[in-house]
Amino acid sequence: MKFAIQSRRDVQSNELMELAKTYLQDFGLEIDEEEPEIVLSIGGDGTLLHAFHRYSHRLDKVAFVGIHTGHLGFYADWKPSELEKLVLSIAKKEFNSVEYPLLEVQVHRNNSDSSTYLALNEATIKSPDVTLVMDIELNGKHFERFRGDGLCVSTPSGSTAYNKALGGAIIHPTLHAFQLTEMASINNRVFRTVGSSLVLPAHHNCVLKPVNDQKFNMTIDHIQIIQTDVKSITFNVANERVRFARFRPFPFWERVHDSFVSNE
Ligand code: NAD
Repeated sequence: MKFAIQSRRDVQSNELMELAKTYLQDFGLEIDEEEPEIVLSIGGDGTLLHAFHRYSHRLDKVAFVGIHTGHLGFYADWKPSELEKLVLSIAKKEFNSVEYPLLEVQVHRNNSDSSTYLALNEATIKSPDVTLVMDIELNGKHFERFRGDGLCVSTPSGSTAYNKALGGAIIHPTLHAFQLTEMASINNRVFRTVGSSLVLPAHHNCVLKPVNDQKFNMTIDHIQIIQTDVKSITFNVANERVRFARFRPFPFWERVHDSFVSNE
């Protein structure tokens, strides 16, 4: 089997990376940075986001697994002390995998150009200096005119990240859905939005249409992109999925409990 390792590049993560490389090669596995079948991410959730985007062109051929060298992560859920156990399982190919849905984002420009992005956690839209004003359409029908700081559209596995900080719901990642969450909407007698997060199923889509400014700051996970001349942005559940190698059960709600409630 061919593997690659993505490190956060701090001293501990790099040391673990060297150790993991040696162990895996001792078991006859081959390093292949271009076409790995398994990608070991060592660092935090952010490191796994980097690994995901590095290999997002071959998601059907790769499985990810994450070791956390800081606090417990959602994607990085193995402890450094478990490295040998993990290497043994990888070498013996004793693993199942789970697949999580992703978000597809299509930006359409006034000049007919368009760009498509895949997000593992979320996409956010913010206006640099002024209030963001966007018409929101759900399945081709006008839903509301949003005014506020911004909008966050997240995947189920990303629902515990930025979306959670904005008061969105936590969604189990086996549900094929995406969530639209407001950032500080303006609500008074004149301007009104629904105020709650919306959870949309895989066969629905959401389109944002700028009302005034056509220049935005967009994030796709950790990546920042300035979008200009935007006509509309379409969000839906992507056809692609991300695959995580699972070597032992660590149910999602246990991860939520251990990360946000208590790890005792
Ligand atoms: P980072 O790696 O420092 O990540 C920021 C924090 O988000 C870390 O504590 C990380 O563990 C956590 N995180 C990431 N994905 C998660 C997930 N799916 N579930 C639970 N926690 C998760 O910073 P980065 O490399 O810039 O990562 C980008 C991510 O940071 C974005 O995708 C976004 O979700 C998150 N973020 C969060 C906030 C916020 O909570 N207010 C603001 C901006 C960005």
